[in-house]
Amino acid sequence: MSQLASQNAPSSKSSRELSIESELVQIIQSSTILRGTLNERQNTCGKSTCRCLDGDGHPALYLVLRKADGSLNQIYVGKRRQREIVEAVENFQRVQTLLDELSTLRWKRLKRR
Ligand SMILES: [Zn+2]
Repeated sequence: MSQLASQNAPSSKSSRELSIESELVQIIQSSTILRGTLNERQNTCGKSTCRCLDGDGHPALYLVLRKADGSLNQIYVGKRRQREIVEAVENFQRVQTLLDELSTLRWKRLKRR
């Protein structure tokens, strides 16, 4: 094996790197990931007799994503989909955290050479 190939061999990865990789694969294969921020707002329904007119709105959840041009993309998240969407957003954040840690470990390993 050439020196370059052996430096990239899996055996040179730390056990933490291997465990991050397997967690990443597991999340990506078994769940949905979604980039965005969850935002709860108090909506008014428009009925003239409803309590929401007194300032006590109906809580409504939105998934918000800032687009490259700075404008906002948003989707109303109904009660039925709430759990699934909250989980998908959390999965995205977990994947991002794991990727950051993995990259930091690889930087350290490269610098040691
Ligand atoms: Zn109302």
